Amino acid sequence: MCPDPFDFAVSSRFAVMGQPIRHSLSPQIHTAFGRQCGIALQYEAIEVAAGGLSQAVSHFQALGGRGLNITVPLKREAAQTAQRLSAAAARAGAVNTLLLGDEVVGDNTDGTGLIRDLERQGVALAGSAVLILGAGGAVRGILGPLATAGVALIAVVNRDEAKARALVDEFRDLEGPRLIAAGFDDLPAAEYGLLINATSAGLGGALPPVALLPVGRDTFVYDLLYGPAAAPLKSWARARGLASADGLGMLVEQAAESFYLWHGVRPDAGAVLLSLREQLAASAAKELS
Ligand code: NDP
Repeated sequence: MCPDPFDFAVSSRFAVMGQPIRHSLSPQIHTAFGRQCGIALQYEAIEVAAGGLSQAVSHFQALGGRGLNITVPLKREAAQTAQRLSAAAARAGAVNTLLLGDEVVGDNTDGTGLIRDLERQGVALAGSAVLILGAGGAVRGILGPLATAGVALIAVVNRDEAKARALVDEFRDLEGPRLIAAGFDDLPAAEYGLLINATSAGLGGALPPVALLPVGRDTFVYDLLYGPAAAPLKSWARARGLASADGLGMLVEQAAESFYLWHGVRPDAGAVLLSLREQLAASAAKELS
């Protein structure tokens, strides 16, 4: 939680870099955290194409930048750009947060964000089996924290099965859960307590290939996507009577962890999440009217 607003104001520059970046909610989230905590900050969204991160980071730092969030498609590149990595970022081989000081330090707060939001939803992780759809950058960030949370089995299923196998091979030494890689037509049977959609299929309005998914009545469906992109999976889950959640809570929680790294104070993520949900619902209702 934030302390009472500070009696001094620090004006410093932060940003999120990625491509596309125009619709990022990060500027809104960090501005709201700053307001809560009495920290004056400037937070921008900067479009950076793959291959351009190192130069963009140096430029931003020269202009007074103190921290960056990194999103698609730059998280792997950010792990190369950082001079030092946290344990979470080194394990993931991907970075979503850069701290720009005497050295550039990379961290990955995606997994912490996911676990905090699952806790908020009351999803029990210890001893459970988790089915993950997708094998991209986001999955790299969440495997370690799921293992730490005590899950017993993780099946990583991807359209390009070879990519799932390569990812699982890279995480073979992960302590705790049994790891399995598979394609959508060769899904391992188990009583999955949690299905995580980490594919970007919903961005194009599509469902990932869910027809053969081995879900039971008690499987909780968590989509990393949010807003209209999460609608296809939400409808699919609802039609099967499955409880589900979108990834807005994860987005706010991973941002709260970045904020803590940069400023040393924990914002009230729940309050910002609530207000974002109200805003998104209001703009969806406006579009329908
Ligand atoms: P990547 O681009 O690295 O990976 C995309 C994944 O989606 C790949 O596994 C790809 O499969 C799969 N995919 C894409 N289209 C389809 C489709 N039509 N059917 C089946 N699979 C498909 O993205 P990330 O892993 O970085 O992120 C995944 C999603 O999660 C993104 O949309 C991102 O916005 C979201 N995200 C949300 C966060 C949050 O805080 N809520 C945090 C991080 C990510 P293949 O390899 O076969 O191409």
